[in-house]
Amino acid sequence: MSPVTRERDSRGPRDPATGTLLEVEDLTTIFHTEAGTVHAVDRVSFDVRPGEVLAIVGESGCGKTVTALSIMGLIPRPAGEITSGSIRYRGKDMLRLHKDERRAIRGDRIAMVFQDPLTALNPVHKVGTQIAELILAHRDVSRKEAWRRSVELLKLVGIPNAEERARQYPHHFSGGMRQRAMIAMAIALDPELLIADEPTTALDVTVQAQILRVLLDVRERFGMAIMLITHDLGVVAGVADRVVVMYAGKKIEEADVHTLYGNPKHPYTWGLLGSTTRVDRPRLEQLAQIPGAPPSLLSPPPACRFAPRCAYAQPLCRREYPELRPVSSTEHVAACHFADLDGWEPGLQAKELASRQEEAVS
Ligand code: SF4
Repeated sequence: MSPVTRERDSRGPRDPATGTLLEVEDLTTIFHTEAGTVHAVDRVSFDVRPGEVLAIVGESGCGKTVTALSIMGLIPRPAGEITSGSIRYRGKDMLRLHKDERRAIRGDRIAMVFQDPLTALNPVHKVGTQIAELILAHRDVSRKEAWRRSVELLKLVGIPNAEERARQYPHHFSGGMRQRAMIAMAIALDPELLIADEPTTALDVTVQAQILRVLLDVRERFGMAIMLITHDLGVVAGVADRVVVMYAGKKIEEADVHTLYGNPKHPYTWGLLGSTTRVDRPRLEQLAQIPGAPPSLLSPPPACRFAPRCAYAQPLCRREYPELRPVSSTEHVAACHFADLDGWEPGLQAKELASRQEEAVS
């Protein structure tokens, strides 16, 4: 079964210059508030490749959801504004397309599963009707066919008695079932990219695992790429191909998932891993959890934004912003002044770091 009858080949080539599906470059999104300007996303770049799972990880307020909303064109104006950068889908900069063309891409080729399905689903319409209406709005099919597909989609995401469930309202569904229904709706038009924003946050561990399984199943079945947004690195381990770590509106590390777990280079990533329970990783016992809270994005620290919480911070860290630099490979980048220092790993004493730094400078 396919959620739609469109062939992938009809969508044109990938970005011929890079072979990527989506390329976000130097994206900056701000919000104007009474208290001042919130720098929610600050010059963030990454790409999503066809068929992969890219995880965007970080604490609440780090800019990951704002990044997703920027891609979806859902930044509320006039309070919010994308002030610079580009978001290229198959080589076309969505920020510069005509609004109809932009809407066609965002509604049809890029879909999003929201954090809270209860607010994303319309409470006064039956679940099956909501999916069928979406199909009718975008595809030339009869009402009967749209309904048939909507039931098929609910079956596909593992909703039992889908015929009957399709006639029910969102409040009849459990949290996990609502999230499945949201996924069914998101894949109804066979998107090439599915953005899933904290899709498992409010669910218990067993249901979390089931929802991740559903996402992987649809990825395998339809070949779509997934951008998975989460605050929990534990969720990412068995799911993602690559990981982007964000902190206070900035990308601070990126690597393939094995490198990120095996050889993380940013102290914030060490802290995130430290708050992840992994029975198979004794080395993580050395990783301390992160003290304190992220900075206000009204006036973030001028140099390294992690410095106020970093156990390894040196005067340099408060003076100069550490640009992203390749570390263990060109595909592994980290924004820390010491990321490429020999022996840079959790547990290095601050005193030892200071003397190593002096040696490196002299
Ligand atoms: Fe910590 Fe300095 Fe690295 Fe920032 S640049 S993460 S403060 S060691």
